[in-house]
Amino acid sequence: MAETVSERAKEVTANIESARHRIAAACTAAGRSVTDVTIVAVTKTYPASDVRLLAEAGITEVAENRDQEAGDKAEQCRDLDLTWHFVGQLQTNKARSVARYADVVHSVDRGKLVRALGAGARLHGREITSLVQVNLDPASAEGVLGPRGGADPRDVLDVAGAIEDEEGLVLGGVMAVAPRTGDPAAAFGRLAAVAERVRDRYPQATMISAGMSGDLEAAIARGATHLRLGTALLGERKVIVG
Ligand SMILES: *Cc1c(COP(=O)(O)O)cnc(C)c1O
Repeated sequence: MAETVSERAKEVTANIESARHRIAAACTAAGRSVTDVTIVAVTKTYPASDVRLLAEAGITEVAENRDQEAGDKAEQCRDLDLTWHFVGQLQTNKARSVARYADVVHSVDRGKLVRALGAGARLHGREITSLVQVNLDPASAEGVLGPRGGADPRDVLDVAGAIEDEEGLVLGGVMAVAPRTGDPAAAFGRLAAVAERVRDRYPQATMISAGMSGDLEAAIARGATHLRLGTALLGERKVIVG
């Protein structure tokens, strides 16, 4: 049986409330203000109707990780005045499409993508806040590329500089996904160090996008400003086959 909309609305509202409690507790523990931490709701695999429920419950920032799904949902939710984030790995040939609707792209990790995204932004007459995705997997230091994308920490300033120089793009800061194994707090600590180096050179680049449903406390303890929350707000995603 399909759930009625009102049951789903209650569920989503309750989820947001518990997420906000977790965030408040983590901010208190870290001596930070809750106003310094923004929830970005990751709505991938969930319908546009859920995006509406999130918006009704006060969420203003939403994220997707696949171009087709993101474009469709952004179009269906155009009346909501939301800020759209793109957080998935991005191929250069999709950059132009993403530039149509994305206000913030978290996954910029190479010069070629900077140029493609910049061209898309100029084509659509838009300005896109761009974050350098940092690969926090220690294995990547040995030249083994992680599956999750991201620039080698040593290349982050180069990518940041390329974004700064690209008309149509605005450097917002850095983003990372904690490696699947190991202590997320240690990984987010490495991200904080990279973020500081970026901020030293580009003081306006203050965003640190880190922390998901399972590790938001560790991310807040290490200075995250933007949490990307999917499961915590909308529930476990069904596994997509294919
Ligand atoms: C899906 C996704 C998230 C949200 O993950 P949850 O564990 O469901 O909160 C965050 N960041 C990225 C890049 C994602 O793809």
